[in-house]
Amino acid sequence: TPAPAANFIRNIIDEQNAAGKWGGRVETRFPPEPNGYLHLGHAKSIFLNFGLARDYGGVCHLRFDDTNPEKESQEYVDAILESVRWLGFDWGSNLHFASNYFDTMYACAETLIQAGHAYVDSLSADEMRAHRGTLTEAGRDSPHRSRSMEENLDLFRKMRAGEFPDGAHVLRAKIDMASPNINLRDPAIYRIKRAHHHNTGDTWCIYPMYTYAHPIEDAIEHITHSICTLEFEDQRPFYDWLLDKLADGGFFTRPLPQQIEFARLNLTYVVLSKRKLIQLVDEKHVSGWDDPRLPTLVGARRRGYTAEGFKRFTDQIGVSKSDGWIDYSVFEACQRDGLNDSALRRIAVLDPVKLIIDNYPEGQSEECFAPNHPQQPDLGKRAVPFSRELWIEREDFMETPSKGYFRLYPPRIDAAGIMQPGNSVRLRYGYVVTCTGADHDTDGTLTAVHCEYLPDTKSGTPGADSVKVKGNLHWVSAAHAYEAEIRLYDRLFSTAQPGQASGEFLDDLNTDSVQVIRAQLEPALRDAAPEDRFQFERHGYFVADRVDSKPGEPVFNRTVTLKDSWSK
Ligand code: ATP
Ligand code: MG
Ligand code: MG
Repeated sequence: TPAPAANFIRNIIDEQNAAGKWGGRVETRFPPEPNGYLHLGHAKSIFLNFGLARDYGGVCHLRFDDTNPEKESQEYVDAILESVRWLGFDWGSNLHFASNYFDTMYACAETLIQAGHAYVDSLSADEMRAHRGTLTEAGRDSPHRSRSMEENLDLFRKMRAGEFPDGAHVLRAKIDMASPNINLRDPAIYRIKRAHHHNTGDTWCIYPMYTYAHPIEDAIEHITHSICTLEFEDQRPFYDWLLDKLADGGFFTRPLPQQIEFARLNLTYVVLSKRKLIQLVDEKHVSGWDDPRLPTLVGARRRGYTAEGFKRFTDQIGVSKSDGWIDYSVFEACQRDGLNDSALRRIAVLDPVKLIIDNYPEGQSEECFAPNHPQQPDLGKRAVPFSRELWIEREDFMETPSKGYFRLYPPRIDAAGIMQPGNSVRLRYGYVVTCTGADHDTDGTLTAVHCEYLPDTKSGTPGADSVKVKGNLHWVSAAHAYEAEIRLYDRLFSTAQPGQASGEFLDDLNTDSVQVIRAQLEPALRDAAPEDRFQFERHGYFVADRVDSKPGEPVFNRTVTLKDSWSK
């Protein structure tokens, strides 16, 4: 494998290693909040954090940032673990829950109070907002800012003991109400909130704020590089202030973890926000978190996307410090490239119509041999049965051919009034056939195409090349075919940035994002196991659905078409 591409984070680490800052140690973390399922944006962070650890011989922690008691649940915890594993990463013994640090976080807060770096404020939320000031106007001190250390400690302990109602007081860091960075104007670090926590139950009625908890989590775990998205850039001074004060207080040793921000993934035609994803699921616009149209990792897996395709994608988009949009077709192309290498070829007729070979003996059948992967001959060939009646694609026949149409059409009288034979095509891996006519029902719908075959032209025999034809059609023997359900997925949203025009992302839902059909497949596909992936020749990449497939009865999801077809 090639060396990983340089990026600004690797440059920072290389410089620090050269200067001996961490003694060569690289310790990162991926810190999801278990309040939803992971999405494609999280994959970027996972590959970045676990990738750095792998490439520098370090470790990456999987840490559940579960300090907010509401909206977090075990269901999300389990799904997140499974998705990170599915992408190919292993956290070893470094699985952590931030809520296990509540005692330490509490002790840190008492230390801050004792050192005069935190105070209990009793303003209402509205008053506090009014005191905070604006970008152009300095904030004002709360009247409670000058409380004595003893009074603050006493009040904080009573907050913890449950002596006050929710919202009565908050603990605030004491920094600078005139700071040009509003995040340094005495940010709240603890609030009173009676809420049941999925891990700590009812032990706590005060909970730390995210911006306070996160640096402490990093320091407890000896994280070297705490990588987060750009919107936290303005929080970095508080991150540094807090850890510096706690190091002074004897809690942590230097060097302290370093926060580094990178550009989040913005991808067209999807929404990457847990709030919007939850809404899509709750309001049943999709079948569930693992709906193959959703950009969740469980949805991506069910869709047939591969971890390998994710790796290609994250390698290709790289890591930068400026926000931008990536077109969904870039993601699809990476998935397609990965599948092209790995997926075995199979034959499926998605819109079947009968092709009857009138000069082929009734009741007879024979084997044709199709390569499992044309670029990888060592993967061998498989036998596909051939017989008198086949399924072909409805679009592979035209009563009156358009210009440049090389597939099946019947004999016709040309412009000079001369009768011309029907067109000849190769039935891929089989024989050359010549079209003789077609049947239609009373309303004109095509019901069968007729042809005759040329017995000497079978692929792989000496006579195969004796007749030259331009069309090359795929087919499945009707008597042997496996008829199966196939879901053809399209994009869930019909605009690149859902909600951009109207302000409501649901307005841009694609009303035609899934089509369920019954198709005729070559018999070998009956044995496909859940998550087996194939290229259906001429159609695209498909996966046996991991949820709805039954033994001997797989159903297939279209992962991605063979070419980018979204220009329609
Ligand atoms: P959302 O904004 O969808 O609610 P989040 O950022 O709140 O997501 P977390 O569970 O807190 O979700 O995220 C875990 C990690 O994943 C964080 O470190 C965050 O920076 C990263 N992450 C989330 N979304 C993206 C994205 N679109 N691109 C890159 N990284 C992301
Ligand atoms: Mg979050
Ligand atoms: Mg967020």
